[in-house]
Amino acid sequence: MKYDLIIIGGGPAGYLAAERASKGGLKTLLIEERYLGGVCLNEGCIPTKTLLYSAKILEGAKHGFKYGVEVQNIALNHKKVLERKDKVIKTLVTGIKSKLRKNGAEILSGHGEILGRSSKGYVVAVGDKEFVTDRLLIATGSSPFILPIEGVKEGLERGFVLTNREILEIESVPASLVVIGGGIVGLEMASYFNSAGSKVTVVEMLDHIGGSMDREISNILLETYKKKGIEFELSARVTKIDDRKVVYEKDGKFFEKETEKVLLSVGRRPNITGFGLENIGVEVEKGCVKTDDRMKTNVQEVYAAGDVNGKLMLAHTAYREAEVAVWNMLGRRVKVNYNSIPSVVYTNPEVAWVGESEESAKEKGLEYEIVKLPMLYSGRFVAENEEFDGLCKILIDRRKRTILGCHMIGNYSSEIIYGVGVMIESQLRVEDIKDIVFPHPTVSEIIREVIFEL
Ligand SMILES: Cc1cc2nc3c(=O)[nH]c(=O)nc-3n(C[C@H](O)[C@H](O)[C@H](O)COP(=O)(O)OP(=O)(O)OC[C@H]3O[C@@H](n4cnc5c(N)ncnc54)[C@H](O)[C@@H]3O)c2cc1C
Repeated sequence: MKYDLIIIGGGPAGYLAAERASKGGLKTLLIEERYLGGVCLNEGCIPTKTLLYSAKILEGAKHGFKYGVEVQNIALNHKKVLERKDKVIKTLVTGIKSKLRKNGAEILSGHGEILGRSSKGYVVAVGDKEFVTDRLLIATGSSPFILPIEGVKEGLERGFVLTNREILEIESVPASLVVIGGGIVGLEMASYFNSAGSKVTVVEMLDHIGGSMDREISNILLETYKKKGIEFELSARVTKIDDRKVVYEKDGKFFEKETEKVLLSVGRRPNITGFGLENIGVEVEKGCVKTDDRMKTNVQEVYAAGDVNGKLMLAHTAYREAEVAVWNMLGRRVKVNYNSIPSVVYTNPEVAWVGESEESAKEKGLEYEIVKLPMLYSGRFVAENEEFDGLCKILIDRRKRTILGCHMIGNYSSEIIYGVGVMIESQLRVEDIKDIVFPHPTVSEIIREVIFEL
C-alpha cells in the first residue's frame, strides 16, 4: 500500500501530525505500538493533572474554613482518584481516535520499522506487512532515563523503585516516598503524594528545584513546598539504592534515607533505536534525532517531531513541531520559535514561564530591565488566595521595549502564560501591551499591572 506520509509513533507529535496531514490532503498512516496518545495522554500530562486536581480539591477542602466553608471528615480516596484518571484517559483517547478517523487518517497498531528506501519510496514494515511512503515522520517519543547506579535495576524489578509510569498505577499511597529528581515532573508527583499523605523527600543534584525555572521563583516555590511538609535534599547525588533505602552524597558526606517507595524522575531519553533509523541514514546527535527548525532531518522527506529530537520535551512543543513538519511537507515554509514556548508546573501553587529567565538573559549578555509585582495586585487573586501572595516578574528588552521573558508563581499562571507567549512571538512593545484590555477581575490583569510599572 502506498502513502503520502507514514508516521511512526502515536503520541502528541504523531497524532496531531496525522490529523493535520490528513486534513491537508495527504494519505496518512499512523503506526503506534502501545497506546494511542503516547506518554502525554496515558502516563504523562493528563493522568498527572487529573491527580493534581484531586489534590487541589483536597487542599481547598482542608483550608475551606478560611473562606467560610466548613467541611468535616475530609479524606482522599486514592483508588477513586485512579479510577477517575483512567476514565479521563479513556475519554480523551476515544476523542483522538474519532477525530483521526473523521479526517481520514489510518491508524495501525504495531511496531513500525523502517526497512529502507526503494524506487517507490520509503519502506516501512509492521509485522509481516509492508507499506511504502513518499514521506516519513519520526515521532517515537522518549522513555524514562534509568540512573546507572547500584541497586536501581534490582529496585525496579522488585517494585521498590518506580518510574513515572508505574507510580500512576500504585494502588495505595506509600507512607514515605523519596523522589529522585526535582524537575517539573518530579515536583508534580512529590506534590500529589505529599497532599495524599506520604512523607515526601525530594533528592536533587542541583542546588535548586525546577530546572531552568527563574531562580527567584524557584526559591519561592521551594519555601512553599517546605511549608506543606515536603523535605528537600539539594546538591545531593544519589549513589546507591539499597534494600529499603536511598543512599546519597552531600558535601562529601554520605547519608541514607529509609523509604517505602522511590520515584525515579531524572529525565527522559529519546527513543532512537530498534526501528531502523540507521537503514536510511538518519543523523543522530547526542542521543537525539537531529532536526533543523523546520523539523527536517538530514534525509530528504524524513522529518522528526516531539521528544525524539530532544529539543524541549513538552507535549505542546511536540504539537507545534508536528504542525511545522506537516506545513513544510505541504509547502509552507514555517519554523518553530522555541523562545515563545511556555513551561508550566501544575502544582498548588502553579508556576509558569516563557522566554528568558534572569539567569539566561545574564548569561547571554542581553540588556534587560526587570519589573515585578506580587500577584496581590490582582483583585481576583486576593479574593481567592488567603495564604499565598505569588509573584509576576517580566524581563523587558531595554532597547526594543519588547518582552524577553515572563515568570509567574500563583494559581491560573498556567492559563495566563500563553498570552505572554503571544506578546513575545508577535514582538509587541510595552506601549502596545498597555493598550490591551484585560477582563476584570482576572488574575491575568497582573500582566498589565506589571507592564504599567514601566
Ligand atoms: C509524568 C509526566 C508528566 C508530563 N507532564 C507534561 C505536561 O504537563 N505538559 C507537557 O507539555 N508535557 C508533559 N510531559 C511530557 C510529554 O508527555 C511529552 O513531551 C510528550 O508526550 C511527547 O510527545 P511525543 O509524541 O514526542 O512522544 P510520546 O508521547 O512519547 O509518544 C511516542 C509514541 O511512539 C510510540 N512508538 C515508539 N516507537 C515506536 C515504533 N517503532 N512503532 C510504533 N510506535 C512507536 C510509543 O509507544 C509512544 O506511544 C510529561 C511527561 C511525563 C513522563
